[in-house]
Amino acid sequence: MAKILIVEDEPQIVRGLCLYLERAGYTTAVVYDGAQAIPSFRHEKPDLILLDLNLPNRDGVDICRAIRRDSSVPIIMVTARSDEMDRLIGLEIGADDYIVKPFSPREVVARVRAVLRRVGGAMGDTDIVRAGALLVDTAAYRVWLGDSPLPLTQSEFEILLALAKHEGQVLSRAQLLEEAQGIAYEGYERSIDQHIKNLRNKIRKAGGPPKMIETVYGVGYRLEAPIDAAPKENSHAA
Ligand code: CA
Repeated sequence: MAKILIVEDEPQIVRGLCLYLERAGYTTAVVYDGAQAIPSFRHEKPDLILLDLNLPNRDGVDICRAIRRDSSVPIIMVTARSDEMDRLIGLEIGADDYIVKPFSPREVVARVRAVLRRVGGAMGDTDIVRAGALLVDTAAYRVWLGDSPLPLTQSEFEILLALAKHEGQVLSRAQLLEEAQGIAYEGYERSIDQHIKNLRNKIRKAGGPPKMIETVYGVGYRLEAPIDAAPKENSHAA
């Protein structure tokens, strides 16, 4: 779960934030002193920073600028005055969002979640490969056919991923072997046939058409993913 670094000098606010963020499933780290913010950021490697504007020894604007010089970690600035917000935005210090005190911890959790989703979504798009009803999540290492998860071995995963990336095209056994194991040894190409057989079985059990991986004789294999996954009841009849 994501780690939130709280840079805030008021213990009461820190307590409320920690309580709500941890209840929402985040882990937290706390810094009370502005001068400790950067060392703590380097040490904790948080996924997001809640950064108070007015801190002892170093102010939030300065800290934000310093972090932005070498990191794109999401930063939510916290300020006690709403007119400070305009100033912050005008300064273009690179924060992702702003919260005005007094706030409810619940509101902060919602903002944290929204910023993390936005950042994660932007990165996440490249982690998902889709082919019809087939969805391969390369970050989570999971595959779904419609609503059904496909539990795959690592080799099966790599092979299916390669086929999905090149949907409709024929890939040779050597190409698939290279995808699955990083290198294509001559003589090992027949092991691909066994992986394909296992994949088809798993697709059938998940209610999909086993023939979605087609054998192209003398050449290799081709994926033609269905637009919709078959209803789950069909998996028992197949
Ligand atoms: Ca403060």
